[in-house]
Amino acid sequence: MSSTTPDDTTEVGSYFISNYPPFSFWNKDHLPAAMGALQTAPQEMSPIGLYLHIPFCRKRCKFCYFRVYTDKNSKEIERYVSALGREAELYQELPGVRGRPFKFVYFGGGTPSYLSAKQLRGLVDRLRDSIGWDDAEEVTFECEPGTLNRGKLEAIREIGVTRLSLGVENFNDEILEENGRAHRSPECLEAYGWARELAFDQVNIDLISGMVGETEENWKDTVRRALELQPECLTIYQMELPFNTIYTREGVGGTGAVANWETKRRWVDYAFGEFKAAGYSQSSAYTVVRDADTKFVYRDALWEGADMLGTGVASFGHFQGCHMQNVDGIEEYNLLLEEGKLPLGRALPVTPRQLMIREFVLQLKRGKVEVSYFLEKFGLDARNEFRDQLQAHQDSGYLQIENDETIRLTPRGFLVADTLLEPFFEEQHRDARYT
Ligand code: SF4
Repeated sequence: MSSTTPDDTTEVGSYFISNYPPFSFWNKDHLPAAMGALQTAPQEMSPIGLYLHIPFCRKRCKFCYFRVYTDKNSKEIERYVSALGREAELYQELPGVRGRPFKFVYFGGGTPSYLSAKQLRGLVDRLRDSIGWDDAEEVTFECEPGTLNRGKLEAIREIGVTRLSLGVENFNDEILEENGRAHRSPECLEAYGWARELAFDQVNIDLISGMVGETEENWKDTVRRALELQPECLTIYQMELPFNTIYTREGVGGTGAVANWETKRRWVDYAFGEFKAAGYSQSSAYTVVRDADTKFVYRDALWEGADMLGTGVASFGHFQGCHMQNVDGIEEYNLLLEEGKLPLGRALPVTPRQLMIREFVLQLKRGKVEVSYFLEKFGLDARNEFRDQLQAHQDSGYLQIENDETIRLTPRGFLVADTLLEPFFEEQHRDARYT
C-alpha cells in the first residue's frame, strides 16, 4: 500500500488512509447487512450526515483517480441530479434514517460547482422536501475556481453553504496547466474575492505539495500568496500517483517528475511553519486553521464514527456499524434509482474492535488521541491494545504519550501520519491492497 521506497521516489501507488477496514475487503455479498443497518431504527436520535457526490468536471486532472465524467451534457446532468434527489427520498423512508436531524452536509466531487445555479437550486429544493438540513452545523461545498461566477456563488450561499472549499492547488499557471487543471490563478483570486464579499462563514483553500513541475521557489511563492488571502482554513495534500490516473498511464511514476517524499514533506512543513508563524494552528496532518476553534464538522464527525449517507455514484457511506458504497457507473446508478432501488454496490459490516481501530487511526491524523475517549466508547484501552505499535512509533520519534492519557503526534509524526497507521490494523488487513 505504501508508495514510499527506500530511495524515497514517488512511485505509483497510494498511501492515503481515509477509512478502515480497507476498501478491498468490501463486497456485494455484504449488501444484506447494509440493508439491515438501514432498516434498523437507531437506539437514540444520534446525528447523521449527508454526502452528495457530483461526479462532473470540466477536464480530468492528470493525477485524478476519482470517478468523474468530463463529457456529460446538461440533459445527462439533470438526469443524474434527479437520481440523486430520488436517492435521498428513498433513504428518508427507511427506519434507520427517518426523522433524524442532519448534523452536516457535504457536496463533494468531482466538481459540485460544475452544476449551474438553476440545477443546484432545483436539487436543493428537492432534497429539502425529504432531508432537512436547516439545523445542520455545517454545509460544505467543494469548488473548482474556474466554474464560479458571482451569481453561482450567491446561489451556493443561499442554499445554506457555510464552508466553501476552493481547489486552488497552486498559484502558478504553468504548473496548473501541466497537471491538467482546468482553472488558472486569476480565477482563484476572483472567486476568493466573491466568497469574502458574500461572507461565507469559512473558506478553505486546498493546495498540493509536489505537483509535476513544482520548484522550491514556486512553492514558497504559492504559500506566500495563499497566506496573503488569510483563509480560515488551509489544507495541503502531498501529491500521490494512484493507479488509474493519466500520469500513471504516461509512466510518470518513479521518474522523479513528482518530487520525492522527503521534499514534499519538507514543503508541507515549510507551508505550515509560515502559517503558524502568522498565528494559525494545526488541526490535522493536512490542515491549519486561522482561529484555533475553527471547526470542520464533517471531518470530525466521520472520524468519531458518525453515520453518513453517501449519495451519488460510487459514494462511500457508513451507517450503524456497516460500511457501504454505491455502484460505480453512472448509467447503472441512474437506472437503479429510476426503478426506485437504492444503488448500493458493496458493503462491509464492521466489528466493534474494527470500529475502534478505524476511529483510532483516523483521529491520529488529527495529531491527538485521548485514551479515555476509547475506554468510554469501546471499553478498550488503546495503550494496551496497541502497546507494541505505540512503543515503536515513540522510539522512532513520531509520537509521545502525555500523562499516560494523550497520544500526540510529534511534528515529525504529523508529516508522515498516513504511513504510521497500518501497524494498527488487524493482521489480515496489513500488507493488503487498500482500494
Ligand atoms: S477537479 Fe478534482 S475531481 Fe475533477 S478531475 Fe480534477 S482532481 Fe479530479
